[in-house]
Amino acid sequence: MKTKTTLILLGAVGLFLACTTNPFTGKKTLALVPNSQILPMAFQQYDAFLSENNVVTNTSEALMVKRVGEKIKNASETWLNANGYSGYTSDYRWEYNLVQDDQINAWCMPGGKIVVYTGILPITQDEAGLAAVMGHEVAHALANHGQQRMSAGQLQQIGAVAGTIAVSGSSQETQQIFGTAYGLGTQFGVMLPFSRSHETEADIIGQQIMAIAGYEPLEAVELWQRMKANSGGQAPPEFMSTHPSSDTRINNLQANADNARAEARRFGVTSFKR
Ligand SMILES: [Zn+2]
Repeated sequence: MKTKTTLILLGAVGLFLACTTNPFTGKKTLALVPNSQILPMAFQQYDAFLSENNVVTNTSEALMVKRVGEKIKNASETWLNANGYSGYTSDYRWEYNLVQDDQINAWCMPGGKIVVYTGILPITQDEAGLAAVMGHEVAHALANHGQQRMSAGQLQQIGAVAGTIAVSGSSQETQQIFGTAYGLGTQFGVMLPFSRSHETEADIIGQQIMAIAGYEPLEAVELWQRMKANSGGQAPPEFMSTHPSSDTRINNLQANADNARAEARRFGVTSFKR
């Protein structure tokens, strides 16, 4: 009897401890598996992905991905530090890689592990457009949307694998979980879209981050207009099927551009690159 009570109490404490606060919204979210378990797993999956794909190095486009990624990282940390969340990304191992692949896609795994596919570059067009995409994806990662997109069962499975650690290759199953939760392309079949509220959140946070990084926030509006123009016709590509570019999305970004610029000015950013 006593043991049972203790177990229940421990369980309650565990759940309580597993709540994290989304620094951008102040909302509490349930983290069934803590970063200390998710991040090593994500880093391993990221390295596996890179080893199985064609990473582009030293072209001007690859260097642009690294340059913009670094600025987005710095802007995120500037914002977090200023808002009482210094150390929030201390376990991150930021990395930005361009992968040769015609898919229109980009994603950020937990811990700042970013991949941009060459197929999305004709739509991002320039540095500011790329900053809009990377800001958006980083926002999903910072807000832990991927974890919330996984089922409790999948998270437990990852926790179990991470608990027994882990550096011994990557099981197909774990790859599949990460694939569906973070958008690693189509090889694993199902792609789960983020919920509409997560998309809105990532849009607003991402736009703020890109402005702090010195990019014109209206470029995000133009990016999603180009996405929309591109999604007509045949089956929409992966990124667009999980990121439907609605008029609401475009209008929200338009309406929030002034706020994003004002937020950036607080950090001394006065010019915004187009
Ligand atoms: Zn998104």
